[in-house]
Amino acid sequence: MAASLSRTPGNAPKPIRTLKALRQTIRGCRSDGETIALVPTMGALHDGHLALVRLAKTKADRAVVSIYVNPKQFAPHEDFGRYPRDEAGDRAKLATAGADFVWLPDTALMYPDAFATRIVAEGAALGLETDFRPHFFGGVTTVVAKLFNQVTPDFAIFGEKDFQQLAVIRQMVRDLDMPLSIVGAPTTRERDGLALSSRNAYLSAAERAIAPTLNRAIREAAARAKSGQRPDGAAAAAAATIGAAGFASVDYVAIRDAATLGPYATGRPGRVLAAAWLGKTRLIDNVKI
Ligand code: AMP
Repeated sequence: MAASLSRTPGNAPKPIRTLKALRQTIRGCRSDGETIALVPTMGALHDGHLALVRLAKTKADRAVVSIYVNPKQFAPHEDFGRYPRDEAGDRAKLATAGADFVWLPDTALMYPDAFATRIVAEGAALGLETDFRPHFFGGVTTVVAKLFNQVTPDFAIFGEKDFQQLAVIRQMVRDLDMPLSIVGAPTTRERDGLALSSRNAYLSAAERAIAPTLNRAIREAAARAKSGQRPDGAAAAAAATIGAAGFASVDYVAIRDAATLGPYATGRPGRVLAAAWLGKTRLIDNVKI
Protein backbone atom coordinates (compact mmCIF):
# COMPACT_ATOMS: atom_id res chain seq x y z
CA MET A 1 0.00 0.00 0.00
CA ALA A 2 1.52 3.38 -0.96
CA ALA A 3 2.20 5.62 2.03
CA SER A 4 0.42 8.54 0.37
CA LEU A 5 -2.77 6.51 0.09
CA SER A 6 -2.85 4.84 3.48
CA ARG A 7 -5.57 5.75 5.94
CA THR A 8 -6.11 4.93 9.54
CA PRO A 9 -9.18 2.76 10.09
CA GLY A 10 -11.96 4.92 11.51
CA ASN A 11 -10.78 8.06 9.75
CA ALA A 12 -13.14 9.70 7.32
CA PRO A 13 -12.35 8.45 3.80
CA LYS A 14 -10.46 10.78 1.55
CA PRO A 15 -12.78 13.03 -0.52
CA ILE A 16 -11.91 13.30 -4.20
CA ARG A 17 -13.51 15.99 -6.36
CA THR A 18 -11.59 16.10 -9.64
CA LEU A 19 -11.15 13.47 -12.32
CA LYS A 20 -7.41 14.10 -12.26
CA ALA A 21 -7.18 13.35 -8.53
CA LEU A 22 -9.43 10.30 -8.93
CA ARG A 23 -7.32 8.86 -11.74
CA GLN A 24 -4.14 9.48 -9.75
CA THR A 25 -5.63 7.68 -6.74
CA ILE A 26 -6.80 4.72 -8.83
CA ARG A 27 -3.40 4.49 -10.53
CA GLY A 28 -1.77 4.42 -7.10
CA CYS A 29 -4.01 1.55 -6.00
CA ARG A 30 -3.37 -0.36 -9.23
CA SER A 31 0.39 0.05 -8.99
CA ASP A 32 0.15 -1.51 -5.52
CA GLY A 33 -1.74 -4.44 -7.04
CA GLU A 34 -4.97 -3.50 -5.28
CA THR A 35 -8.45 -4.30 -6.53
CA ILE A 36 -11.26 -1.76 -6.36
CA ALA A 37 -14.97 -1.97 -5.61
CA LEU A 38 -17.32 0.92 -6.32
CA VAL A 39 -20.51 1.65 -4.39
CA PRO A 40 -22.56 4.24 -6.30
CA THR A 41 -24.94 6.27 -4.10
CA MET A 42 -26.85 9.52 -4.00
CA GLY A 43 -25.76 10.18 -0.40
CA ALA A 44 -27.97 10.74 2.67
CA LEU A 45 -26.42 7.45 3.68
CA HIS A 46 -28.10 4.91 5.94
CA ASP A 47 -27.22 1.44 7.20
CA GLY A 48 -28.28 -0.12 3.88
CA HIS A 49 -25.62 1.88 2.05
CA LEU A 50 -23.06 1.02 4.74
CA ALA A 51 -23.82 -2.70 4.33
CA LEU A 52 -22.95 -2.27 0.65
CA VAL A 53 -19.64 -0.66 1.63
CA ARG A 54 -18.83 -3.51 4.00
CA LEU A 55 -19.65 -6.00 1.24
CA ALA A 56 -17.39 -4.02 -1.11
CA LYS A 57 -14.52 -4.45 1.34
CA THR A 58 -14.99 -8.23 1.30
CA LYS A 59 -14.71 -8.20 -2.51
CA ALA A 60 -11.82 -5.81 -3.08
CA ASP A 61 -8.88 -4.15 -1.35
CA ARG A 62 -10.31 -0.67 -1.76
CA ALA A 63 -13.86 0.63 -1.56
CA VAL A 64 -14.73 3.80 -3.45
CA VAL A 65 -18.13 5.29 -2.61
CA SER A 66 -19.52 7.79 -5.07
CA ILE A 67 -22.00 10.37 -3.88
CA TYR A 68 -23.85 12.23 -6.61
CA VAL A 69 -27.49 13.25 -6.75
CA ASN A 70 -27.96 12.64 -10.45
CA PRO A 71 -30.34 15.20 -11.99
CA LYS A 72 -30.85 13.04 -15.09
CA GLN A 73 -32.76 10.38 -13.18
CA PHE A 74 -35.34 12.83 -11.81
CA ALA A 75 -38.23 14.23 -13.84
CA PRO A 76 -38.83 17.99 -13.44
CA HIS A 77 -41.78 17.40 -11.06
CA GLU A 78 -39.82 14.96 -8.84
CA ASP A 79 -37.81 15.53 -5.65
CA PHE A 80 -34.35 16.44 -6.99
CA GLY A 81 -34.41 19.83 -5.25
CA ARG A 82 -35.40 18.52 -1.83
CA TYR A 83 -33.50 15.21 -1.96
CA PRO A 84 -31.54 15.07 1.36
CA ARG A 85 -27.85 16.04 1.15
CA ASP A 86 -25.39 15.66 4.04
CA GLU A 87 -21.79 15.36 2.89
CA ALA A 88 -20.20 15.75 6.34
CA GLY A 89 -22.57 13.25 7.94
CA ASP A 90 -22.04 10.82 5.05
CA ARG A 91 -18.27 10.96 5.37
CA ALA A 92 -18.46 10.27 9.11
CA LYS A 93 -20.70 7.24 8.48
CA LEU A 94 -18.40 5.97 5.74
CA ALA A 95 -15.47 6.01 8.16
CA THR A 96 -17.28 3.47 10.32
CA ALA A 97 -17.86 1.15 7.34
CA GLY A 98 -14.25 1.18 6.13
CA ALA A 99 -14.65 3.11 2.86
CA ASP A 100 -11.31 4.25 1.46
CA PHE A 101 -12.33 7.05 -0.89
CA VAL A 102 -15.41 9.18 -1.52
CA TRP A 103 -15.85 10.30 -5.10
CA LEU A 104 -17.78 13.59 -5.11
CA PRO A 105 -18.20 14.77 -8.69
CA ASP A 106 -20.30 17.87 -9.34
CA THR A 107 -22.68 18.47 -12.22
CA ALA A 108 -20.19 20.60 -14.18
CA LEU A 109 -17.91 17.55 -14.19
CA MET A 110 -20.62 14.97 -14.87
CA TYR A 111 -22.62 16.90 -17.45
CA PRO A 112 -20.55 19.71 -18.95
CA ASP A 113 -22.34 22.06 -21.37
CA ALA A 114 -21.80 20.02 -24.54
CA PHE A 115 -22.82 16.73 -22.91
CA ALA A 116 -25.18 14.92 -25.33
CA THR A 117 -25.04 11.16 -24.76
CA ARG A 118 -27.63 8.89 -23.18
CA ILE A 119 -27.60 5.12 -22.75
CA VAL A 120 -31.03 3.69 -23.52
CA ALA A 121 -31.78 0.34 -21.88
CA GLU A 122 -34.58 -1.92 -23.07
CA GLY A 123 -35.25 -5.50 -21.90
CA ALA A 124 -35.15 -5.43 -18.10
CA ALA A 125 -35.81 -1.67 -18.16
CA LEU A 126 -39.23 -2.05 -19.83
CA GLY A 127 -42.34 -1.87 -17.64
CA LEU A 128 -42.56 -1.56 -13.82
CA GLU A 129 -40.59 1.61 -12.89
CA THR A 130 -40.45 2.76 -16.52
CA ASP A 131 -44.25 2.86 -16.72
CA PHE A 132 -44.25 5.52 -14.01
CA ARG A 133 -40.78 7.10 -14.33
CA PRO A 134 -39.97 6.86 -18.06
CA HIS A 135 -36.88 9.07 -17.71
CA PHE A 136 -35.41 7.03 -14.85
CA PHE A 137 -33.32 4.19 -16.25
CA GLY A 138 -31.80 6.30 -19.02
CA GLY A 139 -30.52 8.62 -16.30
CA VAL A 140 -29.28 5.75 -14.17
CA THR A 141 -27.49 3.84 -16.93
CA THR A 142 -25.83 6.99 -18.24
CA VAL A 143 -24.52 8.09 -14.85
CA VAL A 144 -23.48 4.58 -13.84
CA ALA A 145 -21.60 4.07 -17.11
CA LYS A 146 -19.80 7.35 -16.45
CA LEU A 147 -18.97 6.30 -12.88
CA PHE A 148 -17.61 2.97 -14.18
CA ASN A 149 -15.40 4.78 -16.69
CA GLN A 150 -14.20 7.24 -14.06
CA VAL A 151 -13.44 4.79 -11.26
CA THR A 152 -12.66 1.69 -13.42
CA PRO A 153 -13.66 -0.69 -10.60
CA ASP A 154 -13.28 -4.48 -10.61
CA PHE A 155 -16.61 -4.77 -8.77
CA ALA A 156 -19.63 -2.53 -8.34
CA ILE A 157 -22.12 -3.16 -5.55
CA PHE A 158 -25.84 -2.45 -5.99
CA GLY A 159 -28.73 -3.08 -3.61
CA GLU A 160 -31.56 -5.51 -4.30
CA LYS A 161 -33.72 -2.76 -2.78
CA ASP A 162 -33.75 -1.36 -6.34
CA PHE A 163 -34.26 -4.76 -7.92
CA GLN A 164 -35.14 -3.66 -11.44
CA GLN A 165 -32.22 -1.22 -11.41
CA LEU A 166 -29.87 -4.06 -10.46
CA ALA A 167 -31.22 -6.11 -13.39
CA VAL A 168 -30.79 -3.17 -15.77
CA ILE A 169 -27.20 -2.60 -14.64
CA ARG A 170 -26.36 -6.29 -15.02
CA GLN A 171 -27.87 -6.20 -18.51
CA MET A 172 -25.90 -3.07 -19.48
CA VAL A 173 -22.61 -4.55 -18.26
CA ARG A 174 -23.28 -7.77 -20.15
CA ASP A 175 -24.48 -6.08 -23.33
CA LEU A 176 -21.67 -3.52 -23.50
CA ASP A 177 -18.86 -5.85 -22.35
CA MET A 178 -18.02 -3.59 -19.44
CA PRO A 179 -14.99 -5.11 -17.67
CA LEU A 180 -16.28 -5.48 -14.13
CA SER A 181 -18.48 -7.74 -11.98
CA ILE A 182 -21.78 -6.57 -10.57
CA VAL A 183 -22.57 -7.71 -7.03
CA GLY A 184 -26.13 -7.58 -5.65
CA ALA A 185 -26.64 -6.97 -1.93
CA PRO A 186 -29.70 -7.90 0.17
CA THR A 187 -32.03 -5.18 1.41
CA THR A 188 -31.39 -3.76 4.88
CA ARG A 189 -34.66 -3.18 6.76
CA GLU A 190 -36.01 -1.59 9.89
CA ARG A 191 -37.19 -4.09 12.51
CA ASP A 192 -40.76 -3.69 11.28
CA GLY A 193 -39.80 -4.62 7.72
CA LEU A 194 -39.63 -1.17 6.15
CA ALA A 195 -36.73 -1.07 3.69
CA LEU A 196 -34.21 1.63 4.61
CA SER A 197 -34.33 4.50 2.14
CA SER A 198 -33.04 8.05 2.09
CA ARG A 199 -36.62 9.03 1.21
CA ASN A 200 -37.98 7.60 4.50
CA ALA A 201 -36.86 10.93 5.99
CA TYR A 202 -39.82 12.54 4.17
CA LEU A 203 -42.38 10.46 6.11
CA SER A 204 -44.48 12.01 8.88
CA ALA A 205 -44.90 10.00 12.09
CA ALA A 206 -48.33 8.86 10.94
CA GLU A 207 -47.00 7.82 7.53
CA ARG A 208 -44.04 6.04 9.11
CA ALA A 209 -46.49 3.92 11.11
CA ILE A 210 -48.29 2.87 7.92
CA ALA A 211 -45.16 2.35 5.80
CA PRO A 212 -44.32 -1.28 6.83
CA THR A 213 -47.59 -2.43 5.26
CA LEU A 214 -45.87 -2.26 1.88
CA ASN A 215 -43.41 -4.97 2.88
CA ARG A 216 -46.01 -7.03 4.71
CA ALA A 217 -48.36 -7.02 1.72
CA ILE A 218 -45.73 -8.13 -0.77
CA ARG A 219 -44.51 -10.86 1.58
CA GLU A 220 -48.08 -12.15 1.72
CA ALA A 221 -48.25 -11.99 -2.08
CA ALA A 222 -45.00 -13.98 -2.31
CA ALA A 223 -46.42 -16.67 -0.05
CA ARG A 224 -49.63 -16.84 -2.10
CA ALA A 225 -47.75 -17.07 -5.40
CA LYS A 226 -45.48 -19.75 -4.00
CA SER A 227 -48.45 -21.83 -2.94
CA GLY A 228 -49.83 -21.68 -6.47
CA GLN A 229 -52.27 -18.76 -6.39
CA ARG A 230 -52.44 -16.94 -9.73
CA PRO A 231 -49.91 -14.05 -9.80
CA ASP A 232 -52.54 -11.50 -10.87
CA GLY A 233 -54.80 -12.37 -7.94
CA ALA A 234 -51.96 -12.36 -5.39
CA ALA A 235 -50.71 -8.99 -6.69
CA ALA A 236 -54.20 -7.49 -6.66
CA ALA A 237 -54.74 -8.61 -3.05
CA ALA A 238 -51.44 -6.95 -2.04
CA ALA A 239 -52.39 -3.72 -3.82
CA ALA A 240 -55.72 -3.72 -1.98
CA THR A 241 -53.98 -4.22 1.38
CA ILE A 242 -51.57 -1.35 0.65
CA GLY A 243 -54.41 0.97 -0.38
CA ALA A 244 -56.54 0.05 2.65
CA ALA A 245 -53.63 0.84 5.01
CA GLY A 246 -53.68 4.49 3.92
CA PHE A 247 -51.27 4.69 0.99
CA ALA A 248 -52.47 7.38 -1.42
CA SER A 249 -52.00 5.23 -4.52
CA VAL A 250 -50.28 2.10 -5.76
CA ASP A 251 -48.14 2.45 -8.90
CA TYR A 252 -47.74 -1.30 -9.23
CA VAL A 253 -47.53 -4.63 -7.47
CA ALA A 254 -46.07 -7.19 -9.88
CA ILE A 255 -45.05 -10.81 -9.58
CA ARG A 256 -42.24 -11.62 -11.98
CA ASP A 257 -39.53 -14.10 -12.84
CA ALA A 258 -36.55 -13.07 -10.70
CA ALA A 259 -33.99 -13.44 -13.47
CA THR A 260 -35.78 -11.94 -16.47
CA LEU A 261 -38.50 -9.84 -14.82
CA GLY A 262 -40.79 -11.55 -17.36
CA PRO A 263 -43.89 -13.56 -16.38
CA TYR A 264 -43.64 -15.68 -13.22
CA ALA A 265 -44.08 -19.43 -13.37
CA THR A 266 -44.77 -21.34 -10.14
CA GLY A 267 -41.72 -23.23 -8.99
CA ARG A 268 -39.26 -20.83 -10.64
CA PRO A 269 -37.35 -18.15 -8.65
CA GLY A 270 -39.70 -15.19 -8.52
CA ARG A 271 -39.88 -11.67 -7.17
CA VAL A 272 -42.73 -9.51 -5.96
CA LEU A 273 -42.03 -5.85 -6.75
CA ALA A 274 -44.07 -2.85 -5.66
CA ALA A 275 -44.12 0.93 -5.72
CA ALA A 276 -46.69 3.03 -3.87
CA TRP A 277 -47.23 6.59 -2.72
CA LEU A 278 -47.53 7.34 0.98
CA GLY A 279 -48.65 10.95 1.01
CA LYS A 280 -46.11 12.71 -1.23
CA THR A 281 -43.43 10.04 -0.76
CA ARG A 282 -42.93 7.24 -3.25
CA LEU A 283 -41.75 4.00 -1.63
CA ILE A 284 -40.51 0.91 -3.47
CA ASP A 285 -39.81 -2.57 -2.18
CA ASN A 286 -39.45 -6.15 -3.39
CA VAL A 287 -39.13 -9.63 -1.93
CA LYS A 288 -38.20 -13.01 -3.31
CA ILE A 289 -40.57 -15.88 -3.87
P1 AMP B 1 -29.41 5.45 -3.52
O1 AMP B 1 -28.45 6.32 -2.78
O2 AMP B 1 -30.74 5.37 -2.90
O3 AMP B 1 -29.41 5.72 -5.00
O4 AMP B 1 -28.85 3.97 -3.37
C1 AMP B 1 -27.51 3.64 -3.60
C2 AMP B 1 -27.37 2.15 -3.55
O5 AMP B 1 -27.78 1.69 -2.27
C3 AMP B 1 -28.24 1.40 -4.57
O6 AMP B 1 -27.51 0.31 -5.08
C4 AMP B 1 -29.40 0.95 -3.74
O7 AMP B 1 -30.04 -0.20 -4.24
C5 AMP B 1 -28.72 0.66 -2.42
N1 AMP B 1 -29.68 0.69 -1.30
C6 AMP B 1 -30.59 1.65 -1.01
N2 AMP B 1 -31.33 1.29 0.05
C7 AMP B 1 -30.89 0.08 0.44
C8 AMP B 1 -31.26 -0.83 1.48
N3 AMP B 1 -32.25 -0.56 2.32
N4 AMP B 1 -30.58 -2.00 1.58
C9 AMP B 1 -29.58 -2.29 0.72
N5 AMP B 1 -29.18 -1.48 -0.29
C10 AMP B 1 -29.82 -0.31 -0.42
